[in-house]
Amino acid sequence: MRKLRVIRSTVLGSIAEDVAERIKEVYRLDVTVDEGTFSVTPQSFNALRRQHNAVSLAEILSKMKGDDELLLALVDVDIYAPGLNYCFGIALKGVAVVSTYRLDPKFYGLPHDESLYRERIIKEACHEVGHLLGLQHCHEPKCVMRFSNWIYDTDVKGYMPCARCLKKLR
Ligand SMILES: [Zn+2]
Ligand SMILES: [Zn+2]
Repeated sequence: MRKLRVIRSTVLGSIAEDVAERIKEVYRLDVTVDEGTFSVTPQSFNALRRQHNAVSLAEILSKMKGDDELLLALVDVDIYAPGLNYCFGIALKGVAVVSTYRLDPKFYGLPHDESLYRERIIKEACHEVGHLLGLQHCHEPKCVMRFSNWIYDTDVKGYMPCARCLKKLR
């Protein structure tokens, strides 16, 4: 069974356990969660944009990844990918990064909603782990592999891959 290790940055609490449970359910991976936390270093920070470059961040985090595992990092900083104003996550070289920054309703001027917030993090985590396992973007609106242009897309989709994507996994 393929192994996935989940790590989280300092401020994120029990969320990693929820994410791990759902990933186990969806992808049947051997998922472990690091007890400690890590700090996002300033190396990937772009001072002009006031955001972290997700590609650099994933490359930095790849040094924490063992050869026999995949790594999922939950971070609270705002991230972008080249060509995009922002992104919710990225996956490359066995490392997935999910940013919770724009997943909290508070970011959109709405009251904090813990269950919605957690559900969004779970969906984006399942999306990026799908990429780690070789899945690409899917047009099915409810499929977790649908690309989220903005938060509404995340709310519409579910945390499960559609039947076609599941078939590709097997
Ligand atoms: Zn994607
Ligand atoms: Zn799909």
